[in-house]
Amino acid sequence: MLSQKISYTEIAEAKRMFEQCRNVVIVSHVSADGDAIGSSLGMYEYMKKKGKQATVIVPNYYPDFLKWMTAADRIILYDRHRAMAKTYITAADLIVVLDLNEPSRMEELAIPITQSRAKKIMIDHHLHPQKFCDLTISYPDASSTSELVFRVIDAIGGTSALTKAGAEDLYAGMCTDTGKFSYNANDPDIYVILSELLKKGIDKDRINRQIYNNYTEARFRLLGYILSEKLQVFPELHATLFTLTRDELSRFSYIKGDTEGVVNMPLEIKGTKLSLYMREDNERPRIFVSLRSVDDFPANKMAADFFNGGGHLNAAGGQLHNMSMDDAVEIAKKALEAYSEILK
Ligand code: 5GP
Ligand code: MN
Repeated sequence: MLSQKISYTEIAEAKRMFEQCRNVVIVSHVSADGDAIGSSLGMYEYMKKKGKQATVIVPNYYPDFLKWMTAADRIILYDRHRAMAKTYITAADLIVVLDLNEPSRMEELAIPITQSRAKKIMIDHHLHPQKFCDLTISYPDASSTSELVFRVIDAIGGTSALTKAGAEDLYAGMCTDTGKFSYNANDPDIYVILSELLKKGIDKDRINRQIYNNYTEARFRLLGYILSEKLQVFPELHATLFTLTRDELSRFSYIKGDTEGVVNMPLEIKGTKLSLYMREDNERPRIFVSLRSVDDFPANKMAADFFNGGGHLNAAGGQLHNMSMDDAVEIAKKALEAYSEILK
């Protein structure tokens, strides 16, 4: 049996909002990941099953390894189809905001969303949600937003409203946000939910292959280059760092998503507590920083202190603006120095 996580009042309110709506817009964060797309399409399938008109809009491109999902080709990319997206937003009477805790995570899409007079519901697992929705369902200790979407659907009316396609989407979100159930995955309920999803007839093994065994040759070789040429190890600090400049990325025909998940790999080196990855943006003069840690090392605090960012305890990120990669590396070294006591 699944234990109750989301409060009864929140479920009752969500139920009322779902029942009263007809035109639903579902949105998620910039550079959507498996959980963003999985939770959004899972919610989309549910709304369709309930007879609603539903549309998923994300700010921009999302990775190819998510395109197998049944309704993936219906997702509207705001940066490419702004006018069409705005038409749906204008017609919406309910907006479901998934896997993000503040409007800025939607970049430009935040403007029409926050201006809309439609009712808004947020379902999310990031810390410190901003109150811009009529209902905020926020559980930062949940494995994923996809888990929370399952819980909402289940608590409202049971799993009969969950289709096989929806179960595939939610599975993908839970799987990717926990690194195949290897972190944030100690809650026994996760496996109760997995059991329910499998009962819908999903082929989890095939989904895993579609997500993970889906490298292009260029992406696979980039991974080799990172591991053999770029990875710096600081053994006494139990930390690692790798960087990729614009030039390096173009040598390997980089497309967005190609280094997704790679920042987790150095944690496989015995004793590693912290992995840092810095990537030069190919559009604007900025460097994206990704941090992954284990146990109680506060990656989100380091991201906030040194990289203008934040996130979860063990998975955080940030950005550095208008500086060279060499300068960014200096900042990373300062960050490691500042946290050396905890790392040692
Ligand atoms: P990733 O390394 O996958 O880009 O990001 C990991 C996590 O860090 C995200 O799920 C998000 O919670 C957080 N994060 C990434 N970039 C930023 C940022 O620029 N600002 C904040 N506050 N959080 C970020
Ligand atoms: Mn997530």
